[in-house]
Amino acid sequence: MKINSNFLDLKDSYLFSTIAKKIKAYQEQNPSSDIIRLGIGDVTLPLVPAVIDALHKATDEMAQKQSFRGYGPEQGYDFLRDEIKDYYARKGVALDRDEIFISDGAKSDLGNVLDILHPDNKVLIPDPVYPAYVDTNVMAGRKIDTIEGNQANSFKPMPDESYKADIIYICSPNNPTGAVYTHEELKAWVDYANKCKALILFDSAYEAFVGDKSLPRSIFEIDGARECAIEFCSLSKTAGFTGTRCGYTVVPQELQFDGVKLNSLWNRRQCTKFNGVPYVIQRGAQAVFSKDGFEQIMQNIAYYKENALIIHEALEKKGIWHIGGINSPYIWLKCPDGMTSWEYFDHLLTKANVVGTPGAGFGKMGEGYFRLTAFGDRARTAEAVERILKNS
Ligand code: PLP
Repeated sequence: MKINSNFLDLKDSYLFSTIAKKIKAYQEQNPSSDIIRLGIGDVTLPLVPAVIDALHKATDEMAQKQSFRGYGPEQGYDFLRDEIKDYYARKGVALDRDEIFISDGAKSDLGNVLDILHPDNKVLIPDPVYPAYVDTNVMAGRKIDTIEGNQANSFKPMPDESYKADIIYICSPNNPTGAVYTHEELKAWVDYANKCKALILFDSAYEAFVGDKSLPRSIFEIDGARECAIEFCSLSKTAGFTGTRCGYTVVPQELQFDGVKLNSLWNRRQCTKFNGVPYVIQRGAQAVFSKDGFEQIMQNIAYYKENALIIHEALEKKGIWHIGGINSPYIWLKCPDGMTSWEYFDHLLTKANVVGTPGAGFGKMGEGYFRLTAFGDRARTAEAVERILKNS
């Protein structure tokens, strides 16, 4: 028996464990300190009433013989796939129900999709980025090239003829930078992918935070994307489902390589390795797209976006370079006074008792930058911002 030795090539991720250790050590030495966390990427507001009602109702159905449900369709129930189809239609994107696959979240699908792609494919991943893209490809032994995000390109790297990529990752709005590609910029990526016969894996987990109507919320708003892209989305940040777990992946029927439809391969993969998302959860997810549910989740998103605005305005006032926070829950800033990411982390922790995430944890291009998140409590966010202003 041999193990998958590619796992030995994974770099240990010390980011969140180091943060936790540093906080613990500081708190032990300063027991009266009142630390505010603007580092976490998890939501803090509860599920909205429409979702809770739907979950209760579905739970009651499970208690009755006539309405009890066992295994559901691996691809998800039609009632939810149709809601998502309508949601896309409201964004001006026409999908078939069969192109939508319900899952337990974007992280699983982003990893699982690699099952249907050959290990010899070369992968292009932006830096800095959500770390799961790199690690899942390292596990599969794929060759990875990175493209640099930096201040000059506003952390939105663009295609370059010198890359030889088969699989391209794009995350917009981006975690960690909050940068959002425009239609023109995404069109350049779509044209590039179609020209080199590459596949784009588009992560739209934060699409619901895009308020600017001129910005795309789906890659399928771009002409030609149905021939080159798969889109991964999630209710985690859209509707507070981080612990409830539901997401969806869109695989267009036009997407073919070597004459084989990726939609059929993904369907086959899911039917073999996945037995569907719980009925109760899918009913809760359906309620997200109802009139009341959608208004309620948008109120929560507005709350987080107001937090982001408070952080953005404070940094603006202080003249600290930053992006994100307008159409995204993440604010990405340049550490003041030439500090490294970890130096600024220590500085904020000890001087302001505020915790953020060092940019270096998202790739080498993140060194010297820092991520703050808008998922906290309003009053605590405002207090944190006051402290940052005083200590930067
Ligand atoms: N994609 C990005 C860019 C994320 O930041 C996250 C979670 O933080 C995910 C995907 C994972 O989402 P899910 O909770 O649906 O697995």
